[in-house]
Amino acid sequence: MSNGILVFIEHKAGALNKTSLEAIAAAQQLGNSINAKPTAVVLGAASLANEIAAYDLEKVINVDHTQLAEYTSDTYAAAMEQAVRALDPQYVVMSHTYLVRDFAPKLAARFGKGLISDCIRMNAESDKTVFTRRLFLGKLDADVVSDGEQPIFLTFQSGAFRGDQAVKESSAAVEQMPADVPEPRMKPEAPFQEVKQAVDLSKAEIIVAIGRGIKSKDNIALAEKLCEALGADLAASRPICDAEWLPIDRQIGSSGQTVAPKLYIALGISGAIQHLVGMKNSQTIVAINKDPEAPIFDIADYGIVGDLLEALPVLTEEIRKLKS
Ligand SMILES: Cc1cc2nc3c(=O)[nH]c(=O)nc-3n(C[C@H](O)[C@H](O)[C@H](O)COP(=O)(O)OP(=O)(O)OC[C@H]3O[C@@H](n4cnc5c(N)ncnc54)[C@H](O)[C@@H]3O)c2cc1C
Repeated sequence: MSNGILVFIEHKAGALNKTSLEAIAAAQQLGNSINAKPTAVVLGAASLANEIAAYDLEKVINVDHTQLAEYTSDTYAAAMEQAVRALDPQYVVMSHTYLVRDFAPKLAARFGKGLISDCIRMNAESDKTVFTRRLFLGKLDADVVSDGEQPIFLTFQSGAFRGDQAVKESSAAVEQMPADVPEPRMKPEAPFQEVKQAVDLSKAEIIVAIGRGIKSKDNIALAEKLCEALGADLAASRPICDAEWLPIDRQIGSSGQTVAPKLYIALGISGAIQHLVGMKNSQTIVAINKDPEAPIFDIADYGIVGDLLEALPVLTEEIRKLKS
């Protein structure tokens, strides 16, 4: 019945996308519950396949075809379809990246299956595995159980598993798999270039981070005053940087910087997993949020349930008094 687990390894011109290590960690954990080692599949990157072979895997397959040199959803869906048909796995595990979101629904549809997407955790019970997805901006968690018919297609949210917990082993076998990949119907544009980071927050001792709860760009001045009083660096959750209220190099989280200061003050940040993954190792976490159920309170050492616009001036004033 089970042919184990296939885990998709994403790369950009042969350079590993680090979330794939999280996918390996997820696949290994799932493998423990069905007593199977995952097989990794790399599309068109032989040297990366050798690199990935250092992990505790059944084997690594590199699907080899010139059409795979550049990503398109047509070519990736076709190559993955052939790998899934050849290996007939019980589960296909992927990271919930933009690229996977682009081709994975098409892949799953080719097997007449849905995609259990954006999972934040899983729980193996005696006869089934329950996958949890977050709904309504984190207000509800939905437990999903598949129909049991393989292959079961899964994606895990960035940060749901830790890449550094992917288990290494001496060396898995690497196999080349030829594939019949069609001419793509689309031509990709030049790849998006990440902006180089100018600010290094990883060495900051105190960080004051603002989230969407700050409400307006003008209110950032209140957080800056707290930074001044504390000698802290200012940081933000992603929506703040997306809105260009602060530059991208102030963003904390899975697609921003990872920090571990002595003190992290989260102002109006809900505590989405992609944010937590970038700051949860802070020594002391203080959160101000008007929602007592906000997930940030699950990891906060101290919390104020209330309006940050009211709390900030008082807090800043008290810190100034203490320091004077
Ligand atoms: C692939 C991917 C990568 C991502 N990478 C990152 C990343 O690197 N970093 C990141 O941060 N996010 C990232 N995200 C986005 C992440 O999922 C969340 O959407 C984001 O972290 C939410 O930001 P937030 O907490 O500021 O906003 P929200 O989730 O909207 O939370 C705002 C909070 O403010 C509180 N609030 C509102 N008004 C007040 C007030 N007056 N006083 C006090 N509290 C108030 C609310 O109760 C709420 O909890 C990523 C998402 C994806 C899909």
